[in-house]
Amino acid sequence: MELLHSGKVRDVYAEGDDLILVASDRISVYDVVLPTPIPDKGKLLTALSLWWFEQLADLVPNHVISATDVPPEFAGRAIRCRRLEMVPVECVARGFLTGGGLKEYESTGKVSGVELPRGLVEASILPEPIFTPSTKAPVGEHDEPMTFAEVADKVGAQTADRLRQVTIDVYCRGAELAADRGILVADTKIELGWAPDGTLVLGDELLTPDSSRFWPAESYQPGRAQFSYDKQYVRDWAARSGWDKRHPAPEVPADVVDATRARYVDVYEKLTGNRW
Ligand code: ATP
Ligand code: MG
Repeated sequence: MELLHSGKVRDVYAEGDDLILVASDRISVYDVVLPTPIPDKGKLLTALSLWWFEQLADLVPNHVISATDVPPEFAGRAIRCRRLEMVPVECVARGFLTGGGLKEYESTGKVSGVELPRGLVEASILPEPIFTPSTKAPVGEHDEPMTFAEVADKVGAQTADRLRQVTIDVYCRGAELAADRGILVADTKIELGWAPDGTLVLGDELLTPDSSRFWPAESYQPGRAQFSYDKQYVRDWAARSGWDKRHPAPEVPADVVDATRARYVDVYEKLTGNRW
């Protein structure tokens, strides 16, 4: 197979017309890949994505061809998928204000051009979910927010409308399902692409802790940072360690690795209802 792309977390191979998307156990924080893998992370993210693709299949078509017809060395952490012509926009939906969105709001009152009410704070719930697209930055660079008008300039007004609609629909369905299981989806990023027949198809990964912020509903309290089901331990450790957040990162201690793995398992089990 031809290796087309090696991202921070995933490797993408071409096999005939198909792609094989392989999730590794690598973890990145602040866009830097850490030298220490998180055991099973690739399998957990793959299983969770597959579960979501199935849950949302009636809402939007997805790129999955098979989770089993993959090279044996990648079994469990690879998906055979349709090769799409990816739309060059990271499609983000936010239901709560945090992270880069909060920073933007604090300096401009808007996120990706969307005007928001005054007085919102860290983790505030938004009046309604909003579409806050960003650029797909090349490796080593950070994604930048885009306004809706910028998206329309890039991909055309009609496609921009559809991206916004699909992104909000996916967010709403995901958030509703997760809420039933005690989890808030603060925000999520999806990637869409065109199939050869002209349909808009969901690609990449879906509603995983790498693409979304998941918060436990029971401890939700606006006005402060929430516990997050993903890289929280790694970020906390990074803050304590004095690492300057630039490449290269130091090795992650075993207890932080274990706690992080446990979080990924926990959120997988909570969302899907399956035992890991
Ligand atoms: P990073 O996630 O490290 O910021 P990245 O998004 O480029 O970088 P990965 O997520 O590791 O890297 O790799 C997945 C790549 O494959 C992305 O570029 C994504 O757009 C692309 N991709 C996902 N699904 C498809 C598909 N069905 N067809 C074509 N490209 C796809
Ligand atoms: Mg990616």
